[in-house]
Amino acid sequence: MTGPAPRARTEILAGGEWHAPAGGDTIAVVNPSDGVTMGAIARGGVVDIDRAVEAARRAADGAWGRLPAAERGRLLSRLSRAVGERAEELALAEAADTGKPLRQARADIAALARYFEFYGGAADKVHGETLPYLDGYTVMTFREPFGVTGHIIPWNYPAQIFGRSVGAALAMGNACVVKPAEDASLSTLLLGELAIAAGLPPGALNIVPGYGEEAGAALAAHPGIDHISFTGSPEVGTLVQQAAGKHHRPVTLELGGKSPQLVFADADQEAALPFILGGIVQNAGQTCSAGSRLLVEDRIYDTFVGKVADRFAALRVGASDMDLDVGPVINRRQKERVESYLALARRDGLKILAEGTLAPNVPPGGFYVKPTLIGEVPPDHRLAQEEIFGPVLCAIRFRDEAEAIAIANGTPYGLVAGVWTRDGARQMRLARALKSGQVFINNFGAGGGVELPFGGVKRSGHGREKGFEALYHFSALKTVAIRHG
Ligand code: NAD
Repeated sequence: MTGPAPRARTEILAGGEWHAPAGGDTIAVVNPSDGVTMGAIARGGVVDIDRAVEAARRAADGAWGRLPAAERGRLLSRLSRAVGERAEELALAEAADTGKPLRQARADIAALARYFEFYGGAADKVHGETLPYLDGYTVMTFREPFGVTGHIIPWNYPAQIFGRSVGAALAMGNACVVKPAEDASLSTLLLGELAIAAGLPPGALNIVPGYGEEAGAALAAHPGIDHISFTGSPEVGTLVQQAAGKHHRPVTLELGGKSPQLVFADADQEAALPFILGGIVQNAGQTCSAGSRLLVEDRIYDTFVGKVADRFAALRVGASDMDLDVGPVINRRQKERVESYLALARRDGLKILAEGTLAPNVPPGGFYVKPTLIGEVPPDHRLAQEEIFGPVLCAIRFRDEAEAIAIANGTPYGLVAGVWTRDGARQMRLARALKSGQVFINNFGAGGGVELPFGGVKRSGHGREKGFEALYHFSALKTVAIRHG
């Protein structure tokens, strides 16, 4: 162990109470910083998902569904304050569970509290419209909760993704069934405790940890779910959409990306550098909106990429509680996956321009990968096309604006893009030309900003989370037409 083990519990939460999973099995909780097992969580399955969905339905049709919007908002605000009061405990659990440096975990928990604050405040501010129609009619719209929403959460930002997805769904009056990732469930389970203590009615929030193929698949295919939101890999996203499609249930998919940062010759290079680094190094590159492609204009390519290389070479990698620049990746499989891309780069003769260093005292069993900068990557190479989900940045050279746009748009993904230029007209042209859910000009949010709608186009998925927009995506619009003469 690299620090005291965070508290893990081996139960599922359904109907406001903790239950042993029906199968009686558990899943080991492994600390990515040292590879040591530090506890266990429940291995939920079909029966547990049934139980959670039934409890959610009772809540949606009962006390939770009838609660006035302002009261729902107050409960979410209370949960936000509870997260703030227990922030350090949550951050320690998140850091130990995912391997992320402690200050990143603290930032994630601050964002989690902010999600509940934002959605607590928004709960009673969503309203319908009256629509002009024929003489003698009054037509209005209502935004109603779906009822029961399913949430399949990945391991990279468990607390933040819980906040953005469950926060918005609860604000609209849905009752939620959450399946956290088998690799990182601890903060979600703690949140279950906080939600009960904050006074959420039984069944408004239900949590079933377990494997994706078991609990996740059961949730996606469940006929009692009215909407499902999934964040994770495109392959599993397809399975979730197909399963939900059998019952014609709407799906929100957030499936990652290969997000470009475009640096033009007139850019403020010093301002860009920390965002270029942060965009890929944060969370060891395991960020759906990571800026994993660095597109640089020919005229400044050598000098600018040289500056990025200097910063990469200075990066230090270590255990989550060492709180260095980069932590381990989540598990052995992910480490091998990232390393296979680095091996491919070497095999194909790509230029490894810089690597970070492992701190001398990193625990031997941890899943560490050195952050790596690779230069002159052909835009159609697999390293420039596929989501690596590790701290690997591919630098690509471009000649002019048209080529930059073509390269930026030339992957199957479209989640986030960053543009660095002082030319105002070019800023506007790029903002319009880039096929991406978010475009950042002279900054790079890497998904940041609770207020900003977030989601992709193309293989990055569909639907929007975060901001007010998410509230529309977690509600069904009803139109009522009255003929009164
Ligand atoms: P994954 O897609 O397998 O897992 C994400 C979530 O889906 C987890 O909760 C998992 O238990 C669940 N799941 C898995 N199989 C399922 C199924 N058949 N039905 C329903 N739910 C299922 O992701 P992973 O295996 O943990 O990571 C693989 C790759 O996915 C990564 O290398 C990365 O490229 C990508 N990924 C992307 C994001 C993102 O934020 N976009 C997050 C995590 C992983």
